[in-house]
Amino acid sequence: MRSGKIPSMRILISNDDGYLAPGINALAEQLSSFADIVVVAPDSNRSGSSNSLTLDRPLRVMKSDKGYYSVNGTPSDCVHIALTGLLDERPDLVVSGINQGQNMGDDTLYSGTVAAATEGFLFGISAIAFSQVAHGWSELDAAARLAKDIVLRNLDALNAPFLLNVNIPNRPYAALNKVVATRLGKRHESEPVIRSADPHGNEIFWIGPAGRAKDAGEGTDFHATEQGWVSVTPLQIDLTHGPQLERLRTVLP
Ligand code: MN
Repeated sequence: MRSGKIPSMRILISNDDGYLAPGINALAEQLSSFADIVVVAPDSNRSGSSNSLTLDRPLRVMKSDKGYYSVNGTPSDCVHIALTGLLDERPDLVVSGINQGQNMGDDTLYSGTVAAATEGFLFGISAIAFSQVAHGWSELDAAARLAKDIVLRNLDALNAPFLLNVNIPNRPYAALNKVVATRLGKRHESEPVIRSADPHGNEIFWIGPAGRAKDAGEGTDFHATEQGWVSVTPLQIDLTHGPQLERLRTVLP
């Protein structure tokens, strides 16, 4: 593994758990060992915020004691602001995470972690989203070391922009010994909404948990992490459905 700083290597780091989350701190510490890093992240937990930009109010940027920038907006806002005005220089890579909890299959559409990386990718910058398949941060240092390994492995490919979604099992570093390329699996539909009442007796709703894995076959992200392997899925943004496009062409005037 390389040691020391790589000349003029700049990495923008964001997340959706907020700038105070242990996951972003661990990632920033690992990546700062070889690159110049800038952290721009939401000022609170914005998990599940997807690719949303805040257009109905102004955004404020604060700087913490550690030099991290926090924004009262979404992960996409953070990367957008960084790339379009806050930073003096364009980063070579955008990295997001490390998220507390997996982002696999359909999760990637809702994930703010993936969204922050996607925002970089939409600006033509290679980007990687990191999530840990667990809650509680018990093996966070292992995940951060592994994230650094994956960044270093991909440095030579930065010029042809890629978007990677990485899910890291909650294991000690020595047990993270297999890293595989995967495709997204698929989930069943989400669990029902949870009905409850506020203290005044008014009905309230909590969005229910994500559905169980439906397509978790060999080659998927679900399957890989089940085996304890690190899953790396290359993503694209074009959602066009080819066969349906052909069908539409035959039925539209
Ligand atoms: Mn999150």
